[in-house]
Amino acid sequence: MTTIAGNLQAVRAAMVAAAVSAGRTVDEIKLLAVSKNFPAPALREAYQAGQRCFAESYLQEALGKIADLQDLPVEWHFIGPIQSNKTRAIAENFSWVHSVDRLKIAERLAAQRPEHLPPLQVCLQVNISGEASKSGVQSDEVGALAEAVAVLPNLQLRGLMAIPAPTDKFAEQRAGFAQLRELRDQINLRGLRLDTLSMGMSHDFSAAIAEGATVVRVGSAIFGERS
Ligand SMILES: *Cc1c(COP(=O)(O)O)cnc(C)c1O
Repeated sequence: MTTIAGNLQAVRAAMVAAAVSAGRTVDEIKLLAVSKNFPAPALREAYQAGQRCFAESYLQEALGKIADLQDLPVEWHFIGPIQSNKTRAIAENFSWVHSVDRLKIAERLAAQRPEHLPPLQVCLQVNISGEASKSGVQSDEVGALAEAVAVLPNLQLRGLMAIPAPTDKFAEQRAGFAQLRELRDQINLRGLRLDTLSMGMSHDFSAAIAEGATVVRVGSAIFGERS
């Protein structure tokens, strides 16, 4: 077995364990292999080990790999910061976007999504307190943003994404993820139906699953440390 295949097996086993101890089934949790900084052959190796969903943060790098892997039925997710001049290529090449944090970006994605493709699946990135990255809409603004994005054509608003500040303490990890889950529940009280919580990375996906993650984004635990 290759290193990537072995890593994937270990991540999947840890996901099952986390789901079971939360009284959940792992079938409701999608594993995204975060492949930024790794070349197409590494993704091909993960694909051969059964991985189907890949997430990328940098558009130019991603477009190269999407071209290289055209022969494989891969589901592509964009998880990086989005500048206005990147929206067209994102709308044309990805199934999901997890990092929408303002209306202008969502409007451009809606206008630029090709009509022959299924609706672009969208999560709003929230800057929950202590978020490591500076991206994301503030918690008190996400409800209004969700209502505005939900009515745009060619997009399907699915849920929320966050990157809490890293900590080794399981209880602190859970607290950050609980905030995102509660925000999602509050938004659904407004009449929306958000079914997706995109939360948890290599060091904290077990805590995220304990708090209801439906998508985990795992990079280094699959591909190794990024240089
Ligand atoms: C890089 C990245 C990940 C994966 O991080 P790891 O710690 O390598 O698992 C997940 N989500 C986002 C938004 C990222 O940029």
